[in-house]
Amino acid sequence: MIKLHGVSKETGCDILAKAEFLNPGGSVKDRAALFLIKDAQEKGLISPGGTVVEGTAGNTGIGLAHICNALGYKCVIYMPNTQSQEKIDMLTVLGADVRPVPAVPFDDPNNYNHQAKRYADSIPNAVWTNQFDNTANRRAHVVTTGPEIWEQTDGKVNAVTFGSGTGGTMAGVATYLKSKNPAVKTVLADPQGSVLYKWFSEGKLERSDGSSITEGIGQGRVTANMKGAPIDEAICILDTEAVEMTYRLLHEEGFYVGASSGLNVAAAVRVAQDLGPGNVVVTCLCDTGQRYFTRLFSRSWLDEKGLLSAVPEQYRFSLTS
Ligand code: PMP
Repeated sequence: MIKLHGVSKETGCDILAKAEFLNPGGSVKDRAALFLIKDAQEKGLISPGGTVVEGTAGNTGIGLAHICNALGYKCVIYMPNTQSQEKIDMLTVLGADVRPVPAVPFDDPNNYNHQAKRYADSIPNAVWTNQFDNTANRRAHVVTTGPEIWEQTDGKVNAVTFGSGTGGTMAGVATYLKSKNPAVKTVLADPQGSVLYKWFSEGKLERSDGSSITEGIGQGRVTANMKGAPIDEAICILDTEAVEMTYRLLHEEGFYVGASSGLNVAAAVRVAQDLGPGNVVVTCLCDTGQRYFTRLFSRSWLDEKGLLSAVPEQYRFSLTS
């Protein structure tokens, strides 16, 4: 847990972040990956030499690939082809069999998750870990992240805010903290184009336009991991805010992290401003910026996405070509 001094000073709150980019696989998804594999083992779904198959934006795959190497499983990863090359390269380096597929919505039979399930069903001794709807994912955060936040703040946490991909982190942490203190405010931070913001604030489930450049977060549906989660409020964070905060984190706090971390901290600032000075707001630095070098830190890529002006002028010296 790290205190973010600049934004804390600005808001008069303690804005703290779990440093998940320091995990062995470089992201918060190592926690879910371990619990998903343990779950498959406990249910007898995989035996030594077997194959773990998953659909993932990349980070869960990287966590799974590490654990598969340690435990002697093969690892096959289906990924939408919109994700960064760096994540594909990392998976390849770890020895995973990476299969990028066209990014189509969940209700299309060729969605990466359905392809992962079909492949696992087609070979012997293979398990589809199903991170979106297997609640072993949420349990990882009920058992580890939630209690860590409680203990590391001496029970003084007033609010938490996280973006959601599978919903495991948000739902698991919210479930645990509400069990310790129902007054802890739980705020979902949703990127533009995701459906969860409207779902939690207005009860409407619209179609996702998938417009956000943030990777690993944003959803088109309410997953089993998110269903029934004790969420008090949802806020929508624009890509411009997420990108600006990602650069501020690098240059003002010294943390080189991805855009979902920028989005989380932008949300934490909003929650802190809402609650007023003296509160403790916890969020997460989800993964390392090295995973997005050719995107988030590229002038031409940001320009193409209409996001160059979101980079604070004084930090534009750090843009690559
Ligand atoms: N940030 C990043 C970079 C991620 O890869 C993910 C997971 N896909 C998340 C945040 C969100 O985590 P969760 O799946 O627990 O909602």
